[in-house]
Amino acid sequence: MNNETLIIIGAGASGLVASIVASRRGKSVTILEQQTKVGRKILASGNGKCNITNRTISPTRYHSHNPTFISEVLKEYPYAIVEKFFTSIGLPLVETQEGKVFPLSMQASSVVELLLYEAQSLGVEIICDTKVTDICQTSRHFQLETTQGDYRASKILLATGSVAAPQLGGSNDGYALATKLGHSLIKRHPSLVQLCSQEPWVKQCAGVKITGVATLYANGVYITQKQGDLLFTPYGISGLAILDLSREVSSRLAQYDYCELSLDLMPTYTKEQLTTLLLSQIHPTSHKPLTLWLQGFLNKKLIHTILSHAKTKVTTEGELNRKAINQLVHTIKNLKLSLSDTKGFRGAEVATGGIDTTEVTPQTMESKLIPNLFFSGEILDVDGDRGGFNFHFAWVCGLRVGGVA
Ligand SMILES: Cc1cc2nc3c(=O)[nH]c(=O)nc-3n(C[C@H](O)[C@H](O)[C@H](O)COP(=O)(O)OP(=O)(O)OC[C@H]3O[C@@H](n4cnc5c(N)ncnc54)[C@H](O)[C@@H]3O)c2cc1C
Repeated sequence: MNNETLIIIGAGASGLVASIVASRRGKSVTILEQQTKVGRKILASGNGKCNITNRTISPTRYHSHNPTFISEVLKEYPYAIVEKFFTSIGLPLVETQEGKVFPLSMQASSVVELLLYEAQSLGVEIICDTKVTDICQTSRHFQLETTQGDYRASKILLATGSVAAPQLGGSNDGYALATKLGHSLIKRHPSLVQLCSQEPWVKQCAGVKITGVATLYANGVYITQKQGDLLFTPYGISGLAILDLSREVSSRLAQYDYCELSLDLMPTYTKEQLTTLLLSQIHPTSHKPLTLWLQGFLNKKLIHTILSHAKTKVTTEGELNRKAINQLVHTIKNLKLSLSDTKGFRGAEVATGGIDTTEVTPQTMESKLIPNLFFSGEILDVDGDRGGFNFHFAWVCGLRVGGVA
């Protein structure tokens, strides 16, 4: 193998982009990928559509122990630069709601296939089924040990991603390789992940999906609030609002905080409006059971839970007084759910933490400790909000490394 080769470890989002940009500059590039196929997380992303970036990119949508690093990396690499890159490989983009951007094809497979075609047509050698197990540095090059023999390179890019979603190639390998070379690691937690609860009622509500508001309390103190889909599941709760809260929950549960959600199941009504509605709709003279009356307002599967939390007896509405209505309203707008865990890295889209970015130069993504060692993407201590922010960071890292390595 050519000693001047740039070897990229990982054919995921950032590795593929870096390979294309470096090859366009005439560099000799090889990618070593542990899996049989490239870009498996891209394929699984955005429910098969790939939420590729976001029009509203801002450092405030990212998290790290070193926020300055994120600002520096994103500087000069706004949405338009990423769009231009994808247009250059034949992939027009389209914006949907909330600034989210997808490939016009609305197919994640088109992202992978066009990246792969571009890389291969530029001469990038992509070697799959090859897991890098060790890296040694000599005075003149890097020596890589893999499951398929040894490789040598003058420059290497660690684009191994994070430990999230091991079923799609997520691994600890990159962290281990980097720490062995002297880099520091910030503790990782699952993020954009479903939440578990041991409350028995939650199982009975499994399958119910509503638009609501989830408010997170840790040790009784308000932390944050998110609006969106709430999906009850046999193990706890999921849905977009929950994924958005999960970063906080994950790190707080790791500190043994008591985490509880307060769920507003009818956020479009104030308490007063809901009280008025129930009072006007539930007629005291009727013999219709209360459970039936409530089916006009709430998903049937939630009614038993609401009534038992409100301590309202399931009888005819004739027994309902103003106090009982107030209790019902309070419960519908403040249903408490204690949280026991997250679905872990297996359920997570991303991992928080990673390689300490104070040891990496943001403009080049080169290690400050070891010349010619580069990093890109989620291996670093940077994670973004849901909505295309994680891919955007990965693409930008790839563009930066490809431009210099
Ligand atoms: C289900 C799911 C859906 C997602 N949806 C979105 C979305 O819609 N929008 C968004 O912005 N983000 C989304 N993400 C997050 C996004 O996929 C990641 O942030 C992004 O892929 C990170 O890119 P990367 O290049 O750092 O790593 P990856 O894309 O994970 O690539 C890393 C590659 O390195 C390989 N590798 C690891 N170790 C080794 C080794 N030792 N030797 C060789 N190869 C190795 C892996 O097999 C993998 O192919 C989603 C994630 C998941 C899991």
